Amino acid sequence: MPVTKISFIKCDDYGKADNAVREAVRLLGCISAFISPSEKILIKPNLLSPKDPSKAITTHPEIVRAVIKLVKEAGAVPAVGDSPGGAIRNIKNLWETTQMERICREENVELINFEASSSKEFDINDKNIKKVNFSNAALDCDGIINLPKLKTHALMSFSAGIKNLYGLVPGLMKVEYHKYASKNKDFADLLTNIYLFFKDKIRFTLIDGILSMEGNGPSAGEVRKTDLIAASRDTAVLDAYLLNELNYDISNSGILKNLKITKDILKTVEVSGEKPESFNLKKFKFPSVRKLDLFPKSLIRIFGKFLWVKADINEKICVKCMLCARACPAGAIRAAAGNQYPHIDAEKCISCFCCHEMCPHKAVKFKKSMLAKIFIKEN
Ligand code: SF4
Ligand code: SF4
Repeated sequence: MPVTKISFIKCDDYGKADNAVREAVRLLGCISAFISPSEKILIKPNLLSPKDPSKAITTHPEIVRAVIKLVKEAGAVPAVGDSPGGAIRNIKNLWETTQMERICREENVELINFEASSSKEFDINDKNIKKVNFSNAALDCDGIINLPKLKTHALMSFSAGIKNLYGLVPGLMKVEYHKYASKNKDFADLLTNIYLFFKDKIRFTLIDGILSMEGNGPSAGEVRKTDLIAASRDTAVLDAYLLNELNYDISNSGILKNLKITKDILKTVEVSGEKPESFNLKKFKFPSVRKLDLFPKSLIRIFGKFLWVKADINEKICVKCMLCARACPAGAIRAAAGNQYPHIDAEKCISCFCCHEMCPHKAVKFKKSMLAKIFIKEN
């Protein structure tokens, strides 16, 4: 079986990211092993929403800067781009708040607006969605360097290398596809197919886990200092290896199941740099809602009707910005008559949790059935 190389580098401060990123890539075989002179390389961070990098929702700008420098040193032409959550309209504000605008200006690198540049449709063999739109920025470049954030995700449990590629779908199409892939299994299939479509273009994936997000991510969780930069040419094996280090049973990941990645494959991984056990990864908290996945299917069949978790809006926190309504693929959120707070129509809701992901104020909570309250404890 071929060996997959992964590098694990300790870095306790984004001020030291340049050295740490360099070392992570050097241990995989140097930047020139991945990139040739004159190539156009798209650097793809996670820019989910307009939040300061200290919130651990977006890839830190110093990680992006370090990779820009490496790409330039290899004689290639870098550009940076990502499409934020579908409901986000003000791209300029996103770029400023996440500090991408500053970094790209200082490094004299193009920052691409996926929403303004065109896209093309492809059939990616997904059973739920006939054709998927991808940004031309991702299609026209020679290679992609994938820079995800290490985070949890309410629908998928985990958001790292493969989940980060969903940002190659521009704007509101992401919301549209969620309508047909609202369940964990269907979204896992879609993400798997997107990954397979771009797999050969990804030169390497480097995960920003200096500050990570645990709990109810990808935006409403808690920041955790994990001091980690992890990189590999193989995005899927890197995700699997990290999940395993976080004590998550990888057989519960629909994406990894689709890709036939098992614990046996992890035995072939060659890790260089620091020992994985020297990082603060133990007892990492996963989204409470995903504990439903751990229930035996037989019990779900019997008690499924009484075992549910739904999105619920806390009006004490909500500021009525209605971003959740724009992010809802089912059109289930409306301003309620009278007080104008958003209201979720339970009949229409498909439990995709996009509203939870996009709410900038952590006002979307998880409401549990009586039975779910017994079995699912908050972290
Ligand atoms: S729940 Fe969140 S996203 Fe929705 S209106 Fe309230 S604050 Fe805005
Ligand atoms: S209300 Fe929230 S969980 Fe329900 S369909 Fe809309 S976005 Fe998804």
